[in-house]
Amino acid sequence: QQKSGNFSVIRSSSSDSDKDGSTVHVVVRVRPLNPSEESRRDKTCAQFPGNGSILVSDNQAKVKTFSFHGVFEPGCTQEQVFENSGMKHLLDMALDGFACTAFAFGQTGSGKTYTMTGPVTPEDRKQNVTLREARCYGLIQFSFAYLMGFVAGRDDASYSIRASYLEIYNEQVQDLLNPAAYEGVQIRWSKSMGFYVENLFVREIENLEELMEVLEDGMRNRAVAEHNINEHSSRSHSVLTVYLDSEMLSEGMTLTKHGKVSFVDLAGSEKVKDTGSTGDTLLEATNINRSLLTLGNCISALSDPKKRSGHIPFRDSKLTKLLADGLGGSGVTLMIACVTPSSSNLSETINTLRYAKRARKIKNKPVIRID
Ligand code: ADP
Repeated sequence: QQKSGNFSVIRSSSSDSDKDGSTVHVVVRVRPLNPSEESRRDKTCAQFPGNGSILVSDNQAKVKTFSFHGVFEPGCTQEQVFENSGMKHLLDMALDGFACTAFAFGQTGSGKTYTMTGPVTPEDRKQNVTLREARCYGLIQFSFAYLMGFVAGRDDASYSIRASYLEIYNEQVQDLLNPAAYEGVQIRWSKSMGFYVENLFVREIENLEELMEVLEDGMRNRAVAEHNINEHSSRSHSVLTVYLDSEMLSEGMTLTKHGKVSFVDLAGSEKVKDTGSTGDTLLEATNINRSLLTLGNCISALSDPKKRSGHIPFRDSKLTKLLADGLGGSGVTLMIACVTPSSSNLSETINTLRYAKRARKIKNKPVIRID
């Protein structure tokens, strides 16, 4: 059982987030110092004055303060993050027919995967320990349980649930539920659907068990790729999507809704020069950075009232094509910025917080249904 930690949110209910005009709900999660940082006696560069604020300072005591919708201090449990990050509101919106995205962003080792899927280490995976045996859920598993619980409790509507799981590695889309289809998976665009992934395997889901299997199968396939290419998972973006189609009778008419929620674990945001990359590794790093850079450009353009009615460069990378509906207007987005408190990572932490600050300024068009 995990001990609880402190967190502060700017408002008690995430559904109020649009009162400040921002439709990307942005929270920060700070992981504890890890054993090697502790043994080096790294100083902590983060402080938590409350009310969704985080204060970072360097040795010269220069201080920067950032404010978000919520800040989760080291020691917060996975459950606390699920309950208080705005995730439940996002899921309610997806169940109600909106395209929703939750993504984790930050440098490698900052806790993105831990936050999304829980603390399953490569060692655990080698020994074939399943996520459920590890019994420490991330946001994805809590969300699965919430969605399936909601659907089971509704007798006035019938839901059809499906799921897909892909990763973007080197600007190539890989279907994690059908790894053999490597060549055939492409992102296309149509007027009615926007960007979509052609030939992606989408599994029909009957119960929570099957949804958990999607996550485990995809993670297993990802782990296989990881054995072939060094640090594969920190260089790829993974996207697990649950499609929620529903039908209900309302005043003699059948009302249909097509919602979806995508859980995105982004590649590490650290700068290329820090990785000492050469050759193929540099190409990978450049491609990852192309996606993250484009995401940054899109966030920048969307957060600037003068630019947001103009061209938003979603088409410039695979990742931004897939995130377009969430960021670009019709959807709802939760960004979880993950940072380490170690002063040795101060500049990356500040970069992540700056990125997150820009995302908070995004004001979507009035939310419209996607059905
Ligand atoms: P990333 O996905 O950003 O590269 P990971 O999620 O793999 O980072 O986390 C790096 C290490 O830190 C892992 O060993 C993980 O278990 C640990 N860790 C991350 N976040 C937390 C947390 N909130 N509490 C405890 N340990 C954490």
